[in-house]
Amino acid sequence: MGRLRRSRAHHARRDVHRAARTRVRGRDLDQIQLIDLDPKNRAALEKQAIDYEKPGLGQHYCVECAKYYESDEALKSHWRSKVHKRRCKQLREPAYTIEEAERAAGLGRENKRPTTASTSQEVTMTDDV
Ligand SMILES: [Zn+2]
Repeated sequence: MGRLRRSRAHHARRDVHRAARTRVRGRDLDQIQLIDLDPKNRAALEKQAIDYEKPGLGQHYCVECAKYYESDEALKSHWRSKVHKRRCKQLREPAYTIEEAERAAGLGRENKRPTTASTSQEVTMTDDV
């Protein structure tokens, strides 16, 4: 037995393990899309109280990426960056909902009336899991 395929085993996925750790778990795209991008939540996130635990005292926050920055310049250069633009593009697509998952599993409720309060229900349901 020789060396079996050790090189080229990481294709642009080097942050998977870091992203999966709960210690540094960021907000998921659906949380950002359904909760944070709401205009009043967004305003609250952008004007946070001074917090000494957070980078830059919690004053420079990117809502789309759910990240704190040290300074205004850092935040502004981040807004121009590829990472941020890619994130915005991802956020423009509709969030993955429980309805979609059920439809994929064949449990769809296309024939039933649409539930109006579905977004608030979804949030509580995901919290239980
Ligand atoms: Zn950003």
